[in-house]
Amino acid sequence: MFRRIKGQQQVIDLLQHATEQQRIAQAYLFHGGDGVGKFMTALYFGMALNCLSSSEYRPCGVCASCHKFLSFEHPDFMYLFPTVNLKLSSDGEIKDADAMRQYEAYLKNKIESPWQDFFFSGSTEIRKESISLLIKRLEYSIHEAKYRVVIIENADMMNTQTANAFLKTLEEPPPNTLIILITEKLPQILPTILSRCQPVYFKPLAQSVVQEILFEDFQVDTVLAKSAARISGGNLKTAIRVANDAGYSTRDKAFELLNMAYEKANLEYISQISKHKTSTDALRDLLAYLGIIANDLALIHLAPNEVTNLDKSEFLREVSHHNIPDRIPDYLLALDDFSRKLDGNVNPTLIQLSLFLATCDLLNL
Ligand SMILES: [Zn+2]
Repeated sequence: MFRRIKGQQQVIDLLQHATEQQRIAQAYLFHGGDGVGKFMTALYFGMALNCLSSSEYRPCGVCASCHKFLSFEHPDFMYLFPTVNLKLSSDGEIKDADAMRQYEAYLKNKIESPWQDFFFSGSTEIRKESISLLIKRLEYSIHEAKYRVVIIENADMMNTQTANAFLKTLEEPPPNTLIILITEKLPQILPTILSRCQPVYFKPLAQSVVQEILFEDFQVDTVLAKSAARISGGNLKTAIRVANDAGYSTRDKAFELLNMAYEKANLEYISQISKHKTSTDALRDLLAYLGIIANDLALIHLAPNEVTNLDKSEFLREVSHHNIPDRIPDYLLALDDFSRKLDGNVNPTLIQLSLFLATCDLLNL
């Protein structure tokens, strides 16, 4: 099943080597950006150590042990993540009914569609009660596994007090216990935690890898897979979001904007943005997509086969004039600037207006 994790061969080699040499660290810290395979690798690593198959390709994904891990029902698999206050009882029962519903929905999402983010309503953290319960459970003997597996996701979301409560366990875990912490924010991990873990870095996925995953695992057509991969910045979750229906509309919206700018349809544009509110995420995707189209405008005369939006070649040729290649660098800088302003909480409508003007400047002689 490790072969299903694409674009992280170095990490897989490292973990497989550690397994073969039986030199498994007591605690690992998987770090790197979102959507690059950290959780999946952690889960498969735990499964591989417990897989009952005699094949050299472990985890097999089908034996009784693998099965329990994949459905999160293995009694020796403990998975912690930031939650709202669950009002845990001393034996780990969730006392708050609404929190319970959200907790179950989170797990269901994680099992069935892990590339989608799940948001709790309310502020989340890895709570002291959850860590205390984990420490207590680690004192019991192992039920059936060869290795007990603990995965703590977004480990940066423990406050100092909670992290300190966990230090002793991290330093001297009970035997045959594998602890994997996961974070996207390495600088926010306390040095005391960091020094007790073996760090493992996950790099952003290469564009070609994202494209391949979209094409092979999600049946996304080549044109869309290529553009979604470009937008994604190596984050599979973004790529999938862009490639699903919403993604198509990002592309449509980008071409719509371009067309209106080309036809100087100022009033139409203003009425459109005042009628349809655009979320920050959608506007960010739109800016990224306009960057791809700008590239296409530069390529359409030079190397028409390299264009991402091949099906729009005719339109691109029509709007692209001889000054465009000179203007594209400024346009790309402007897009970057709008993205930064969006992060800095500048009013999105203002950004949309400036974006339209910049696009008019690009297209009109
Ligand atoms: Zn197995």
